[in-house]
Amino acid sequence: MKKGHEGKLFVISGPSGVGKGTLRARALEGFDDLVYSISCTTRPPREGEREGMDYRFISEQEFLERVRQGQFLEYARVHGAFYGTLRSDVERDLAAGLDVLLEIDVQGALQVKQLLPSQAILIFVSPPSVEELERRLRWRHTETEDKIRVRIANAKEELLQADKYDHVVLNDDLFRAAEELKNIIYEYRGKVGIKSEIL
Ligand code: 5GP
Repeated sequence: MKKGHEGKLFVISGPSGVGKGTLRARALEGFDDLVYSISCTTRPPREGEREGMDYRFISEQEFLERVRQGQFLEYARVHGAFYGTLRSDVERDLAAGLDVLLEIDVQGALQVKQLLPSQAILIFVSPPSVEELERRLRWRHTETEDKIRVRIANAKEELLQADKYDHVVLNDDLFRAAEELKNIIYEYRGKVGIKSEIL
């Protein structure tokens, strides 16, 4: 751990289907010492999702027990399921001198900012338009029509909260948006651990 280095929490939010997952992967590829916090969720796994890699898939009963025990740094109910970030994971990574990337919803992001104002950097990923978002969600074929409608309604709510974030990245072009996201992370981290410098 670099002396005097206070670990950062890069918190990415944005509506479902906006491309957060892909941007997150690009950011993680770009930096050493930046790790992804794997959330717990009560929603069932989607095809191809792996336990402990994408999420920790747990029952609602277990989730609520963990809430009761104060295990979550933040948690929220999103699209009808619970999602939460384990405090122990984040504390372990920060103590190891790593920075942490969270991909969580707006409610969770605002909780993290309130808890750790000097360490949390909130980055909102915004779609070019709600119509484009809807098109991407349908194209993805991961959700039923009902769930798509819920996600679009939630997206409209989330977009209204973008001004509470430190940065807004418009995902009009994946390559450009990924570069912008990496530049934001780079700014805060200085030159610590950027891969292109090492290779
Ligand atoms: P999905 O079901 O599409 O994987 O995720 C649905 C939403 O839950 C996304 O907006 C995602 O960012 C959010 N989410 C994922 N993990 C967490 C978490 O640990 N906490 C909170 N508050 N939201 C989360």
